[in-house]
Amino acid sequence: MSGSDAVVSSRGALRWTEGHPWIFKSDITQSPAAPAGCVNVRDARGRPLGWALWSPASEIALRRVDADPAARIDSAWWHSRLARAIGRRAPLESDATAFRLVHAEGDGLPSLVVDRYDRWLVVQLLSAGIETFRDDIVGALVDLTGCEGILARNDASVRSREGLSRDVELLHGTVPDEVTVIEHGVRYVAALRTGQKTGAFLDQRENRALVASVARGRALDLFSYHGSFALHLARRADQVIAVDSSAAALDRGRQNAALNGTANITFTEADAFEFLRAELQTGARYQTIVVDPPAFAKNRASLAGAVRGYRDLNLHAMRLLEPGGLLFTASCSYHLTKPLFLDMLRDAGAASGRRMILRGLTVQPLDHPELITIPETGYLKGALLEALD
Ligand code: SAH
Repeated sequence: MSGSDAVVSSRGALRWTEGHPWIFKSDITQSPAAPAGCVNVRDARGRPLGWALWSPASEIALRRVDADPAARIDSAWWHSRLARAIGRRAPLESDATAFRLVHAEGDGLPSLVVDRYDRWLVVQLLSAGIETFRDDIVGALVDLTGCEGILARNDASVRSREGLSRDVELLHGTVPDEVTVIEHGVRYVAALRTGQKTGAFLDQRENRALVASVARGRALDLFSYHGSFALHLARRADQVIAVDSSAAALDRGRQNAALNGTANITFTEADAFEFLRAELQTGARYQTIVVDPPAFAKNRASLAGAVRGYRDLNLHAMRLLEPGGLLFTASCSYHLTKPLFLDMLRDAGAASGRRMILRGLTVQPLDHPELITIPETGYLKGALLEALD
C-alpha cells in the first residue's frame, strides 16, 4: 500500500460498492499523502476498490471515476469516457442546438458539467480533483466536438468548498457573449458569460416542448427568465404573459420574442407571488399556466419554508385556472424529493378548492441523467395538472 493511496472505512467501502461514487472525509481512515488529483482507493484490509478524484479540502473527499483497480486514468481514459457521454446525446441533435453533454456523476464524470450552445461549449469544473484534469478534458472536448471555443463558468459557489477560486475563463478558441440557439423550432439567445447557470435552463427543454403541445387560450409563464416557456406557449396560446423579477432576463426575453417574430407575449417585471395575488383580486383567469420557480430549498434546513412557498404558488395558480385549464409546475430543489413534491401538490390542490387531475409527471431529460443509485444527480421534477371544473 502506498502513502498516496486513500484508505476508507467499511462504511465508506460499502457505500462505494453499492453504487454511490462519493466518500466523505469522515469515512477516510488514511488520507492520501498527495495533492488534489486521482488516487487509488483501498478498503481497511488494503484491497483496491478503484480510482477516485481526491479533493483534500472538501467534505466530499473522494469521487469515484473507475471501479477497476487496473484502469489507467490518462488522456485516453478521459477521451473515451467523454465520447460515451457525448454519444448518448446524438438523438437530441435533430431537436435542439443547445443541450448538456456531460451531467457530472450522472455520466460517470464527477463534478464536471459540459453544456453545448451551438458551436461553443461551456464547462464547469466543480472539484479540486477534476481541476487537475482540465487539459485532458479540454483536449478531448475539442477533438470530439470540433467546437470553436470553450468557456469555463467556474463562478459556481460550490468551488469555494473545494478551496478553488471562482472565475469565468476562456479555455479554448473564442466564445461570443451571446449565442443564438434553436430548441424545438424556437430560437433564443443565451448569455454564456452573464446568464444564469451556463446561460440557459437546458434542463426544461423537453418540458417546454410538452407544454407547447397542450397550450391554449390566455397563458401565463411565471418565473420566465428570458421567455423560455413563453416562446413555446406563444405558438399555440392566443396571448402570453411572461413574469420575472429580473429586468435583464426580461430584456433578453423581448429580444427573443423579436427573433422569433412573436408578437403575442407581454413581458412583466414583478414578484411572482405578488403578481398572482393581484391577478386573483382582479378576477383574471388563464387557460394555461407554467410555474417554474428557482430552488427555494437550498438546504435541508430551509425545506419547511420552501414547501410553504411552493404550496402558495401552486395554490394561487390553481385558483387562476379556467375550468379545463392546464398547469405545468416544476421544482428544481434537490431537497424537495418526488414524494414531497406530490404531497405539496396534494395540499395545494386541497386548499385551492379546485379538483385537479394529474395528467403527467416529468423527470429529467436524456441529457441530464438521474442515476437512481445517486440521488444527488436528480433535482428537477414536474407535473402537468388539469382543472376538472
Ligand atoms: N422558466 C425558466 C427558468 C426559471 S429560473 C426557463 O425555463 O428557462 C427562475 C427565474 O425566477 C429566474 O429568471 C429569476 O430571475 C426568477 N425569480 C426569482 N425569484 C422571483 C420572484 N420572486 N418573482 C419572479 N421571478 C423570480
